[in-house]
Amino acid sequence: MMQTTLAQLSAELAPYRAQLVAVSKTYPPERLMEAYACGQRDFGENKVQEMVDKAAVLPDDVRWHFIGHLQTNKVKQIVPFVHLIHAVDSLKLLEEIHKRAEAHGRVIDVLLQCKIAAEESKFGLAPAELDQLMAGGHWVALTHVRIVGVMGMATFTDDEAQITREFATLRAVFEGMKHRYFADSPHFREISMGMSADYALALAQGSTLVRVGSLIFGQRG
Ligand SMILES: *Cc1c(COP(=O)(O)O)cnc(C)c1O
Repeated sequence: MMQTTLAQLSAELAPYRAQLVAVSKTYPPERLMEAYACGQRDFGENKVQEMVDKAAVLPDDVRWHFIGHLQTNKVKQIVPFVHLIHAVDSLKLLEEIHKRAEAHGRVIDVLLQCKIAAEESKFGLAPAELDQLMAGGHWVALTHVRIVGVMGMATFTDDEAQITREFATLRAVFEGMKHRYFADSPHFREISMGMSADYALALAQGSTLVRVGSLIFGQRG
């Protein structure tokens, strides 16, 4: 039952002070409302149109997390209401979010997506590329985006030691950025890592935001 699962997750997360993002992609609004009725307010979606449609029918106090790959031409659709954009992986995307957020009089929180998995992935910045983006300094002028942390996905594998190493890498990337660029910025504090299969390993490595879908809502069809 969803209520039991949410209560168990909440108890597991509490000692770590981590937050649960309920990944609701592909599930209909009725299922989100069920979680909402249990007190869940943070929801994660990976498609712009789906998130816009659901935001239109769910209560206003839902915090919408965009967790998928975001195309620059779709930024404007989510800027009015998005709470946190998890997977920013280019300066171009940061610039577009800044521009659209400025037009809306908002400052939008974002995470930089870092590639930590061994498998090939089209999205995310390798740690060296992330270093380059930060060292370039252009992001400093983008006053309508606020970089609040990093996000990553571990390899899809049963090898827990490998998953743990990858999460530890993301944690180290976070600490490096914190030290170099955000030492005086209390808002730089989020490490978004961990999904249904590996959130416990992520918590052990310092995750502050776990993105859990199927465990809460059931297998996607
Ligand atoms: C779908 C998805 C999740 C949740 O996956 P589950 O295995 O259903 O928990 C987490 N993060 C991202 C980026 C996703 O696309």
